[in-house]
Amino acid sequence: MSENILVAVAWPYANSQIHVGNITGSYLPADIFTRYHRLVGNRVIMVSGSDAHGTPVTVRADAEGITPVQVYQKYHAGFLDLFQKLGLTYDLYTSTHTQNHFKVAQDIFLALQKNHYIYSERQQQWYAPSQGRFLPDRYVEGTCYLCGYLNARGDQCDGCGSLLDATLLIDPRSKIDGTTPELRETEHFYLDLSALESPVVEFLRQREGYWRSNVLRQSLGQILADGLRGRAITRDLDWGIPVPMEGWDGKCLYVWFEAVIGYLSAAIEWAEIAGEPSTWEDWWYNPEMRGYYFIGKDNIPFHAVIWPAQLIGVGEWFGKLFQDRADTRLTLPYDVPANEFMNLEGRKISGSRNWAVWGLDFLSRYDPDPLRYYLTINMPESKDTDWDWEDFVRRNNDELVATWGNLVNRALSFSYRNWEGHVPEPGDLRSEDREILATIEAGFQSVGEHLDAVHLRAALLEALRLASEVNKYLDKSAPWFEIKSDKAAASKSIYTSLRAIDSLKILFAPFLPFSCERLHAYLGYLQPLFGNQFTENREDELGEHVVLRYQPGITADQWQPSQLKPGQTLVEPSPLFRKLDIKVVEEERARLG
Ligand SMILES: [Zn+2]
Repeated sequence: MSENILVAVAWPYANSQIHVGNITGSYLPADIFTRYHRLVGNRVIMVSGSDAHGTPVTVRADAEGITPVQVYQKYHAGFLDLFQKLGLTYDLYTSTHTQNHFKVAQDIFLALQKNHYIYSERQQQWYAPSQGRFLPDRYVEGTCYLCGYLNARGDQCDGCGSLLDATLLIDPRSKIDGTTPELRETEHFYLDLSALESPVVEFLRQREGYWRSNVLRQSLGQILADGLRGRAITRDLDWGIPVPMEGWDGKCLYVWFEAVIGYLSAAIEWAEIAGEPSTWEDWWYNPEMRGYYFIGKDNIPFHAVIWPAQLIGVGEWFGKLFQDRADTRLTLPYDVPANEFMNLEGRKISGSRNWAVWGLDFLSRYDPDPLRYYLTINMPESKDTDWDWEDFVRRNNDELVATWGNLVNRALSFSYRNWEGHVPEPGDLRSEDREILATIEAGFQSVGEHLDAVHLRAALLEALRLASEVNKYLDKSAPWFEIKSDKAAASKSIYTSLRAIDSLKILFAPFLPFSCERLHAYLGYLQPLFGNQFTENREDELGEHVVLRYQPGITADQWQPSQLKPGQTLVEPSPLFRKLDIKVVEEERARLG
């Protein structure tokens, strides 16, 4: 029976480019998982978008001398380009700067208020008389009250690394015009997390059996040690979603409060664009739905604690406010398979110091599948890993090319040349032929189980192990010798190899979609394996926004062993991957820093 699966992917801030650490942290694992479930025939939607709001975007706008809208649009366009080149098949990739998202986020806020999980509190904050507005913490600089560093930011000191209370800064000055701000009282809304602590703990306890230990440690473990306290969910800032209340001008919803709501609003927008505006309810109002949140470890508390608290806190009020519907509840996350970090050549990746391998730059020199391969085999699922250029070249040449690419090329070219471009007729298979086919068939179970459990590295290693079994079989049967004396025996060997490769194609497809699509065509299939990605312009009261969409292929239920037909017409093959020269290691290292 087909299941409903939500693949919720981290929302990147639209204020910088995306590097390989971001890709392996959340975007790529989400796509592999999604492609697998599509092949299985489940109803899966993969949604996300650009996080357009908050001080990260306004600070960048000030630095570049452009508006926040221009900053968001510029980086958003780069993301759309990268995601298509890398084959990240979002059913909808949108942004937080849409009328739909504003409405959904405001209704979540109001629903929490209806359930009394929101309260307001007055606090001191820096106010700039020269500008007539309150300054967000990032906009105030001064002397650190802990170490005396002269240029500490309001939220954090680069001198001693401490998180700061901005109101305690010595000699504060506005980052915008250098004038001296003054402390004034301001009022903010808080999410009453302490009142939601016990249902959140219950939610986490129900997931103890299968969540990753680092995720449980940073959610359940933290709550049991420290408890939950109220958290401010509004800011004195005009770039964002307005607080939906009279008398709250100049304040907006805190970017972290509203961005996670995007998992819901993007599903709603996806359904609307697809012309079936209520389909999102099959996911969000369906308690059997499984929602997987693909994020990096720095975002665990927001997804494993605060977002579930928001969903529990709205109760039945979201449905009532949003669509005048009673008796609905939003479904809580099923899993939050957060990844650790990837470092680069032994050091922490740093975008500002250009110590990074940037996605688009990489793809200007290399193909997407070798990147997807290396980032999966080296995925930081349980501990930090390292991008090492020498290791990248070695794994590309010794594993991707030698184990899988050469197997495909040997069997396909030999068959194409010696059987007039057709799959050979094998007659009755021998026991060794049936044996290798059974070994590969079992892979649909073993690789599938790893994928179901979001153990993507293990799944890829298992597929690779099966490919080496077929290599051994092919070496042993040696059809290039058989054909000289016994063409019928060679037909059996080549047919068996092609059929095993046809199965391996499906097992590798979630990881290596571009080369598997080519292989699928070489094997003579006329319908493509996967669907198409495309962008589309949307317009609402906030202006234009561009979204990335995916039109799934027409065939489903493909996660099963090959039934390759003898006699099927092949297409003349060429190698799936290219071997890399070891000299690229020095070239690439010279580009860093
Ligand atoms: Zn300091």
